[in-house]
Amino acid sequence: MTMRDELLELTDALKGHILSEKESRNGTSRLYLKGDLPASSLPPTDPVRESGASGALPLTLEDIRTELGDCTRCKLHSGRLNIIFGEGNPRAGLVFVGEAPGRDEDRQGRPFVGRAGQLLTDIIKAMGLTRDDVYICNILKCRPPKNRNPEPDEITACEPFLVKQLQSLQPRVICALGKFAAQTLLKTDTAISVLRGRFHSYHGIRLMPTYHPAYLLRNPGAKKQVWEDVQMIMKELKQEP
Ligand code: URA
Repeated sequence: MTMRDELLELTDALKGHILSEKESRNGTSRLYLKGDLPASSLPPTDPVRESGASGALPLTLEDIRTELGDCTRCKLHSGRLNIIFGEGNPRAGLVFVGEAPGRDEDRQGRPFVGRAGQLLTDIIKAMGLTRDDVYICNILKCRPPKNRNPEPDEITACEPFLVKQLQSLQPRVICALGKFAAQTLLKTDTAISVLRGRFHSYHGIRLMPTYHPAYLLRNPGAKKQVWEDVQMIMKELKQEP
């Protein structure tokens, strides 16, 4: 490693440390999830479904899908074939959040089924899991034209449904795939290369950012770092809740 590389790595580590410090000091929350609040302020719990701060029961994934309906809340509705809500185990300990559906996903109505999806499926298998053990969804539920980046008004319209999904799922760990998912969930513009490699808190849920599988297809050298991130997730999932 050259002196320049060493310095870059040190700077990244330092940035990461400063971010963690900030996050632990500003532990504010928008979501009302287990672990957000001191035990004394938690509402009484329902043995079947945990009640939220307002006393309302968390919605099921089916309820949330029904509420989304044949969505026309943003301009993406006009170009889509399908709404890609998400799929997998409603009781999953691990949820993957990607960016937005692409052409294959739009055609099939399922998340991560193209080339990047195949790589994600391989990563899940390498973790000793199957797609049925986890839950997979995206920041956006409709395909942006020509796979361009999601735009702020589209995120504003779509994010409340992801928030509700995560509230319903209450996973042990969220894996944010790529810069877009990580920056949107963590409300930061810090680079994915700085965010990845350590856990962050998403309203009390452990969140691991890592590189997007599509990035790995273009940069196979980054697979080593993704494997390191994924091993940290596996270790976390094996720990007692
Ligand atoms: N890329 C994503 O971010 N999500 C998908 O569902 C497919 C590709």
